[in-house]
Amino acid sequence: MKKIIAGNWKQNGKHKTSIQLVKNIITGTKKNKCKHEIIIFPPSIYLSSLQSIVNKSDVKIGAQNVSAFNDGAFTGEISSSMLKDTKIQYCLVGHSERRHVFNESPDMLFEKVIRLFENNIKVIYCIGETLEQFKNKKTKSILNAQVKKIFNKLKIKSTNIIIAYEPVWAIGTGLVPSDKDLIDAFKYIRNTINKFNPAYKSIKILYGGSVSPENANSLMKTPHMDGLLIGGASLNAKKFIDICSTI
Ligand code: PEP
Repeated sequence: MKKIIAGNWKQNGKHKTSIQLVKNIITGTKKNKCKHEIIIFPPSIYLSSLQSIVNKSDVKIGAQNVSAFNDGAFTGEISSSMLKDTKIQYCLVGHSERRHVFNESPDMLFEKVIRLFENNIKVIYCIGETLEQFKNKKTKSILNAQVKKIFNKLKIKSTNIIIAYEPVWAIGTGLVPSDKDLIDAFKYIRNTINKFNPAYKSIKILYGGSVSPENANSLMKTPHMDGLLIGGASLNAKKFIDICSTI
């Protein structure tokens, strides 16, 4: 089965460097015969321009964020119909920086998912516990609540959603969960999703948090892990291409 390697560039880069980075990723992954699906999430101001560059390649472009509302008087926002109009196929929802820096509530994230589905845009729905929750052994109950928020009320086509498990304490810190904790979390997420509908067993689950060329291979051996969501290392063409090529 094809894995997914996603790169979240966050609020980094200039237009020129973004074009160069995406071109390097297209060339490097092709040269190394990368067999996985690659999705890049650049800053929204560059979406349109980068979308025209990846057009004829296997690399796809996604948005890091979307408005919870349809078009209207929402200054500064970008709607899911605008993403569709720009031929964007994926969007992140619930990234820890949106939840914890911008205080996006579970209800708001739910609305974003609905707007994206209305426009046939696939959702990468990020879930994960904070350090305090991890230390207090609350990981499973947090994952359960975050998964249920979306799956309880929506009938979802399995191919329209991807889950990304990103422990908040592992993002940008150099820390990764122990093998045992990762195995437990992935098994738990898989079982929780499958309980809603047996067809959901084909929903892909990614891991994100301090992935590097050094740890990517061993992380990917975790059962039920279908790919990676990469922050820092996706800003470096060599590191990102190395990760895409080694797993
Ligand atoms: C992320 O922000 O989604 C992420 C996983 O970041 P990093 O790889 O830098 O930890």
